[in-house]
Amino acid sequence: MRTCPRCGVPRILISEHRWLPNGTITLARDETHRMVLIDNDALNYTMDSIGERLGVPLEAIIQEAKRKSGKHFMDAVLSGAKGVVARNLISTRVYDQLGKQVSMLGLGSAEVSSYKRHCYLDGVITDAYSGPAITGDICGAFESVEGRAASASFVLADDGTVRCRIEADGGPRPESDDRSSYASPPMVGGRNIYELCPVCKAPVAVGRQYDFDDDRGIIVDTKTGHRVVLISVMTLTNLFGELTSELGGEVPRMMADTEKARVRDLIASKGKGLDTSEAGYLRYMKTLELKGMGNGSSVSVADGTVRARVDNPYYEPLIAGFLAGFYEATSGKEAAVEWTEGTAGYSEVTIQVA
Ligand SMILES: [Zn+2]
Repeated sequence: MRTCPRCGVPRILISEHRWLPNGTITLARDETHRMVLIDNDALNYTMDSIGERLGVPLEAIIQEAKRKSGKHFMDAVLSGAKGVVARNLISTRVYDQLGKQVSMLGLGSAEVSSYKRHCYLDGVITDAYSGPAITGDICGAFESVEGRAASASFVLADDGTVRCRIEADGGPRPESDDRSSYASPPMVGGRNIYELCPVCKAPVAVGRQYDFDDDRGIIVDTKTGHRVVLISVMTLTNLFGELTSELGGEVPRMMADTEKARVRDLIASKGKGLDTSEAGYLRYMKTLELKGMGNGSSVSVADGTVRARVDNPYYEPLIAGFLAGFYEATSGKEAAVEWTEGTAGYSEVTIQVA
């Protein structure tokens, strides 16, 4: 059986990931490789908003950032003797395996329609989470498997189907092309305890909060009705870093503002009486840990100023926007938000009336 009959979570997802007590999700075989369950609608919306505000289409930057991380990921998977066999004898099977990964992570359903070793690969992806992102993912994997640089393009049909073509350029890609600036910050510990499914050992909350359609490659957050994807933190950080270096230092602030407005409207539309005491903020921050976004460890509320500490934040500006949106929705006032870099393993977010 592919999904757990008790909680409905795909077994492969649980065997390949760990929910740790410090508010992070990691790969089971590599605890340094961190993952996060992020709202895909929100992510695409944020990318579109930034592109619009700056008047630049971001597709090429997204595709290139994903190519790099896709290659990095596949290089790690195919390291050692196993990789030699995979690259030389069974490359088509590697792509089949990749297709399973794609649907497990909620990125869509991908199939190879045409392939010639060391030359090209045509792929068809239904329910793709993003055209440029999935094309970059596949291009990076192709470069890793075939051992040469490639170019990629895609067409997005009206029904949302992405058709991509990956073509080898010739020799290997210069090392400098793939240099990543990402250095994982130190982590601090935590004490989350998850109730586990007695059958598959997934946190019970995962099965409650998410619906998995393994055939289509779609994960839906049942609380918001939005689609989510399981994506590596390194990939996100590199993508956001790339956007910042290409478009300017105001990008993190723009992302925080976009997230703030989105969260504010989402909370306001539900219109429930929300608890804005310290306990209320702590409960609100509790929603971060299941997604692997970090641990809200402390908060103080005094004279209209909220100071919150989030341990192991997946990306500080989006954490700041998440908190400031709650502040705006509950106070009805515009918030000014500041945050510190999580270089010591945590970020401190300060919010007050603008
Ligand atoms: Zn289960």
